[in-house]
Amino acid sequence: MRQNKDYYEILGVARDATQDEIKKAFRKLSLKFHPDRNLGNAEAEEKYKEISEAYSVLSDSEKRSRYDNFGSASGPGMGFDFGDIFEDIFGDFFGSKRQSRNRPRKGADLHYKIDLTLKEVAVGVEKEIEVSRLIYCEMCNGSGAKAGTNPEVCPVCNGTGQVKKQNGFFTIATTCIRCGGQGSIIKEPCEKCHGTGKTRFTKKIKVKIPRGIEEGTRVRIAGEGDAGMSGGPPGDLYIAIFIEEHEIFKRRDFDLFCEVPITFIEAALGTAIEIPNIFGEPVKVEITKGTQTGDIIKITGQGLSNEYDTGDLFVSIFVETPTKLNKTQEALLKQFAEVSGIKIHPKTSNFWKKIKKIIS
Ligand SMILES: [Zn+2]
Ligand SMILES: [Zn+2]
Repeated sequence: MRQNKDYYEILGVARDATQDEIKKAFRKLSLKFHPDRNLGNAEAEEKYKEISEAYSVLSDSEKRSRYDNFGSASGPGMGFDFGDIFEDIFGDFFGSKRQSRNRPRKGADLHYKIDLTLKEVAVGVEKEIEVSRLIYCEMCNGSGAKAGTNPEVCPVCNGTGQVKKQNGFFTIATTCIRCGGQGSIIKEPCEKCHGTGKTRFTKKIKVKIPRGIEEGTRVRIAGEGDAGMSGGPPGDLYIAIFIEEHEIFKRRDFDLFCEVPITFIEAALGTAIEIPNIFGEPVKVEITKGTQTGDIIKITGQGLSNEYDTGDLFVSIFVETPTKLNKTQEALLKQFAEVSGIKIHPKTSNFWKKIKKIIS
């Protein structure tokens, strides 16, 4: 097996380095190359990945011996997890695992929403939103210390973030009051972030909305949340999709539904009407002779679509009875009734036949 990378060289340690030496080397390098401290620096990011990979192998005795023997650490279960590495490294470096405030933590997730019209859903859009994120202060590189100065190791707790007190047989550890558990103190705070190491930054983010998206979908944009704490990774940005109600069209999955009123004359004689589809383009709807209220006309392929599916448009017909007839119109309808009789209204005729049976 060919050896691709020299993990010892990457971490700058000897081949017989102890676990402590390896840990120390990684800690030093990771503080220098952490992506949050090198925003937009692809080279640092690459370097960071490399040292993380090297550390994930050399810090695990099993993986290390496999690497030493075979020149490769690849094999089942060789994936590494940043979270574990951070826990491992920083957790015991500051002398207190888990509950320590120094522990690298993922930054907060941010939640935004986007309102779409149904037409935008049909077409698919790119929306720009302004997101207010906490990022590492670029003036102090996230240290919180004034340019040219560095945070100093807390003299009270010696950087552990905790103060131990002997109480009889027990040793009680409490959070260091001087540094607030951070392990370091800032003598001269950065003017821009006032020592917090972070600033708020409004970023315009373009969000691609694929066509056919469903109401309530949450779009996740990884890494666009707030910056992490103590070197942890940034949070994520979540965007909830809301769709405004359309004046004419209702949606179910990819199908669209609309109700179209026609006159009773059109219903009786048949006609062709034109309605706009969701894009506003004219679509011909054939009304056959004798169309009834509630009849549904399916227009194939005129619904919403995505990469895989295309819905149909369902036109539900509503036959409108004329109102406010004048004398002439009434007279004409009466004349029509006289010449037509019951034969042309089979439903009405059937209904009254049934009623007669029931009551006789
Ligand atoms: Zn302290
Ligand atoms: Zn600052």
